[in-house]
Amino acid sequence: MSGETEATSWQEDAARDLVRNAGDRLALFTRGEGSHLWDGEGKRYLDFLGGIAVTSLGHAHPVFVEAVSRQAATLAHVSNFFATPPQLALASQLKRLAGTGESGRVYFGNSGAEANEAAFKLARLHGGPERPRILALRNAFHGRTMGTLALTGKDYMQAPFLPMIPGVEFIESTVEALDQALDERVAALFVEPIKGEAGVVELPEGYLVAARELTARHGALLILDEIQTGAGRTGAWFAFQRDGITPDAITVAKGIGGGFPIGALITFGAASELFSPGTHGSTFGGNALATAVASAVLGEIERAGLLDNAAARGEQLRTAIGAIGSPLVTGCRGRGLLIGIALAHPVAGAVVAAAQQNGLIVNAANDSTIRIAPALTIGDAEIDEFITLFTQTLHTVIADTPASTTPTEVPA
Ligand SMILES: *Cc1c(COP(=O)(O)O)cnc(C)c1O
Repeated sequence: MSGETEATSWQEDAARDLVRNAGDRLALFTRGEGSHLWDGEGKRYLDFLGGIAVTSLGHAHPVFVEAVSRQAATLAHVSNFFATPPQLALASQLKRLAGTGESGRVYFGNSGAEANEAAFKLARLHGGPERPRILALRNAFHGRTMGTLALTGKDYMQAPFLPMIPGVEFIESTVEALDQALDERVAALFVEPIKGEAGVVELPEGYLVAARELTARHGALLILDEIQTGAGRTGAWFAFQRDGITPDAITVAKGIGGGFPIGALITFGAASELFSPGTHGSTFGGNALATAVASAVLGEIERAGLLDNAAARGEQLRTAIGAIGSPLVTGCRGRGLLIGIALAHPVAGAVVAAAQQNGLIVNAANDSTIRIAPALTIGDAEIDEFITLFTQTLHTVIADTPASTTPTEVPA
């Protein structure tokens, strides 16, 4: 069978040539359009993972294609010795969308980790020797580089790479724990407004408002990691905006480039004056090509009203998932189009595999949570298709699940 030969060959290539930092690649995708992907054998999939909350406009959106092509044919890169019109346009756009006012500033990197590395340095610049402590939340995720790993409160991720950069302490996601941990030696608190990698876990109601008040009282920065929650994913430009607070800084990446690698640190007020010439930099960060594409993607999210669409389609999806009435689904977490589907048993891996067989791409955020983060452009057709494929998938998994399996706890 020629299909078999083809499949074996890419898997062999991947196993031989790619660093083994991740599990086996699940498929070989060769093309995408809207919310659909095609593999090397022409099989079509509904993509409800969106490259992990990245492809906000779906695949090969005309606005994305036009922006990449036009800017590639105009000017791609000149280094940060120089400015370019797309870079300045995106900086001002991000300030407006984040609501920084005049005093805000933007630093550009190429990924979420780079945005958080810049935020880590911002915290150190603010703290100096007098404030060596940095607080972060247990089970939040901030990246895989040494700096961002030091901020990531997951022992199993840090263990092979000890010792970590010193100064970071992990606390539970409660106002009491924060109140106890804060003193005048804390430089900053890092918060992931909805813990995506942990399983789309929300903070306690009112946490951000209390965190803003408490950090301000102790002179510590409040830094929000909006890398997964930003760019309209939760139905607001940034998740913190629902709480009406003003942070000192936020980091963004994933969805702002719609598939083009870009990340940014956005600072508010006095925190905007902490970096001085020579304290940080990046060769590629904020080049004309990346910023032109991100600008076009954010412009299209705004023009097409995709914030409202994310909020409305999120509600529609939650209702429809509940209406499946599957004993395997215990509920949904998250906001807008960042949804964690809670399972009654730790069979998320089996659900992902069965979904892929059925032509549906979803992700296991942990043993008992399915994460979906589809394009912000989805409509009735994509939701109907998802419900059909997901219902079919749940039936398959239930038929194969031993009755004795017990649910795993989702970390707070
Ligand atoms: C994905 C993610 C990161 C890391 O971003 P990369 O682009 O993979 O470096 C950091 N924080 C959060 C909340 C994320 O979801």
